[in-house]
Amino acid sequence: MPIYEFHCEDCGKNFESLVMIASALDDVSCKHCKSSNIKKMISTTSSQPLNSSSIPAGALSGCSSRSGFS
Ligand SMILES: [Zn+2]
Repeated sequence: MPIYEFHCEDCGKNFESLVMIASALDDVSCKHCKSSNIKKMISTTSSQPLNSSSIPAGALSGCSSRSGFS
């Protein structure tokens, strides 16, 4: 789910918004004061793909050892 966290420069509050396409990031407005003066923060959900990528890396090392056997 492409949920981004934003910080409003006007009211100083943080809020999350579901953004399906990257171009829609410019259309996001503050949920509290409707201001467009916001900054996109690094989402915590972006760290999940990094953790899952470590699993295929271990599978690759096992595959290389098998090719050395033949
Ligand atoms: Zn605001």
